Amino acid sequence: MAVERTLSIIKPDAVAKNVIGKIISRFEDAGLAVVAGRMMQLSREQAEGFYAVHRERPFFGELVSFMISGPVFVQVLEGDNAIAKNRDLMGATDPKKADPGTIRADFADSIDANAVHGSDSAENAAIEIDYFFKPEEVTVRR
Ligand code: UDP
Repeated sequence: MAVERTLSIIKPDAVAKNVIGKIISRFEDAGLAVVAGRMMQLSREQAEGFYAVHRERPFFGELVSFMISGPVFVQVLEGDNAIAKNRDLMGATDPKKADPGTIRADFADSIDANAVHGSDSAENAAIEIDYFFKPEEVTVRR
């Protein structure tokens, strides 16, 4: 299996619930490591740019408002098969449809306030990591 990096965001709803550590434990317990991370209050421009692919979707305005409603924790996760593994740990976009034991089943309230973001492809992971982190901010594990 290839070692990959993926971008993960702990969204404002989960930060407000004070479950950053519990969510990161899910990643670490599954063999993923945090190789970069910071708390951020996204500006409207940053949130719109990050979700630009969804600009034409009906929920875009609400998604941006939600993502700037409070601080987020942005991080880079590294490990074998990190992109798909992170998506599996997150669960389905709608927490009502997420498998039991997934992060969204356990911590999310609704399809919009759904606790976490995770890159959905290698191409998007590279773009999304670059969006928030300079190359030198992503550390190398020893
Ligand atoms: N979203 C929403 N309403 C919807 C679908 C999506 O508010 O009907 C939000 C939700 O926060 C989701 C994000 O838009 O996480 C991006 O949607 P996507 O389909 O890419 O889901 P994800 O990859 O996050 O599971």
